Amino acid sequence: MSTPGQLIDGKAVSAQVLAEVTADVAALKAQGVEPALAVVLVGDDPASHVYVRNKVLRAGEVGIRSLEYRLPAEASAAEVLALVAELNADAGVHGILVQLPLPKHIDETSVLQAIDPAKDVDGFHSENVGGLSQGRPVLTPCTPAGCMRLLRDTLGDLSGKHAVVIGRSNIVGKPMAALLLAADCTVTVLHSRSKNPQALCRKADIVVAAVGRPRMINAEWIKPGAVVIDVGINRIEEDGKNRLVGDVDFASVQPLTAAITPVPGGVGPMTIALLMQNTVTAACQQHINSAPAASEEATCRSAC
Ligand code: NDP
Repeated sequence: MSTPGQLIDGKAVSAQVLAEVTADVAALKAQGVEPALAVVLVGDDPASHVYVRNKVLRAGEVGIRSLEYRLPAEASAAEVLALVAELNADAGVHGILVQLPLPKHIDETSVLQAIDPAKDVDGFHSENVGGLSQGRPVLTPCTPAGCMRLLRDTLGDLSGKHAVVIGRSNIVGKPMAALLLAADCTVTVLHSRSKNPQALCRKADIVVAAVGRPRMINAEWIKPGAVVIDVGINRIEEDGKNRLVGDVDFASVQPLTAAITPVPGGVGPMTIALLMQNTVTAACQQHINSAPAASEEATCRSAC
């Protein structure tokens, strides 16, 4: 480990992931497979439009074909499910992402459950969630997978480390805990009903904060020498300015840590890079599964 308070550079690591994905896409194309990601956007949520645009742009940069499907806010659940069924059946589509949130009249769970688990590049289908908790190699939610890559790049072997995850959402906290457990960490998950969360967190070698509360985790929560991953993205008004801050009080926490992610520029860029990685993994897996059993040609990268 280097100097205290080392910044974990999510932009640099995500660029590395994207370079790996670009090479994998080229290898697949050489075998006649063009990885394709379908992105479904329902309604007019401005933030969702920005997220979808960024995903489509990033896909183009790494050579993944993207297909955008925009449905009006009044689209029925049946229409969304019919589109998902069509994409499931299309062998030219390897990944399907339904941008959340969906309009209130559409049940998100039933839409996410309708996606073919082999194409579920967000890793939200119960088959992938279950596989993750059983330690099987499945498509894994992108943000926690990005956090794991940052932790492995920073610490190497995580075995035996005590990790504290603050937050237990299905999207971040729970899959994060499952991934850390699979990496042989001792894992504690804190949530809004936890007693003495500060004292518990202060025992951690690794802290992953996914709470959604600006700067809640201050120096009182951190053991000297801990590695801190801040997943939080919170917009606040401060000194007359609109700022983006994490769940960690960076100024007080950084000097205590061995290493810490900044916000922005930490976990944020990793999420989209891991989405691209999941898409290429899904394409690779579908390519292998569709090849004749005796075929020696359907080989992909080792990560697949
Ligand atoms: P959720 O609101 O779904 O979950 C927040 C979790 O924090 C809940 O489990 C909640 O506990 C827990 N919590 C709330 N208050 C406290 C408290 N005082 N002490 C301990 N735990 C508490 O949020 P998400 O998991 O979706 O997101 C968390 C943060 O990460 C947000 O800032 C979000 O914007 C950001 N995010 C960033 C991404 C990225 O790409 N960088 C991607 C996804 C999210 P309980 O279950 O008891 O209510």
